Amino acid sequence: MRKTIFTLIFLGASLFAFDYKLQPKEIAKGVYMFTGVNEPVKKSNGGAIANSYWVNTGKHWVVFDAGPTYDYSKQAHSAMKKIANLPIALVFNSHFHDDHWMGDSYYKELKVPIYATKTQLKEFKEGGESRILKILDKKDLKNTKIVKADKVVDKNMTIKVDNSKFNVIKLPYPAHAPEDFMVYLKDKGVLFTGDLLMSERITSIRHGSVEGNLKAISLIEKINPKVYANGHGKFTNKEGLKLTKAYLQKLKTTAKSAIDNDIELEEYVKKANFDEFKKYKLFNVAHKENLFSAYNEYELAE
Ligand SMILES: [Zn+2]
Repeated sequence: MRKTIFTLIFLGASLFAFDYKLQPKEIAKGVYMFTGVNEPVKKSNGGAIANSYWVNTGKHWVVFDAGPTYDYSKQAHSAMKKIANLPIALVFNSHFHDDHWMGDSYYKELKVPIYATKTQLKEFKEGGESRILKILDKKDLKNTKIVKADKVVDKNMTIKVDNSKFNVIKLPYPAHAPEDFMVYLKDKGVLFTGDLLMSERITSIRHGSVEGNLKAISLIEKINPKVYANGHGKFTNKEGLKLTKAYLQKLKTTAKSAIDNDIELEEYVKKANFDEFKKYKLFNVAHKENLFSAYNEYELAE
């Protein structure tokens, strides 16, 4: 009997796709959010660590960040069909981190145009490897593969879908990643920031620039949206802006003062006191590497 139960559990686990239990939350009229968990990519979370967003433009859906896998996108689409069964006009990929776009494989099948940065196209070739593909279980990666984006976002542009205008703001400098873009939906006051802002958790600056991300934050402050559709974390108010700004400013002043006082890298990493940020998620995962990145960045800038 025991053996039968184990066999059944095993069969069950191997037959069914990962259930992401996606629950859309309306953050502005016709704008929905699927909230990621504040963890690194793990088998147990199916890679669903980033937020993804859907906008109802009247006759279409527009997707901002596809999520981590084919199954995730398929399940997100099923959930959204219950709200409105509309065709999807396009998918944005805010930057090249794979937790935000491996789900493109599903949209590619539906022939939905995918907008991405040149860095993503350069770093991730069709059919190639990625972090998600290495970490997740094979069974949860069915049909998930790197597909080629259709349009390159290399400058600011306005995309009109039905009566909604999407202002695509392409940063001309590295910020969270070598290339990032945001999308502003002015009529609803929603700014999709990608990973330029995160709430609840510490950001990661290893592929970007502290200075660039701070510059992007100044731009976000000027835009002053009503709703912050951030890359990670559940809050859509100013929480993400406040946390990301305070943390990056502290990284900047700490690294600069160590360099100015000829403090070696190792000693600076050991002595840097960031206690007030310890309560945030992923501090233990991302902070040390951020300290290194900040020091290297400002040392080069000297
Ligand atoms: Zn990222």
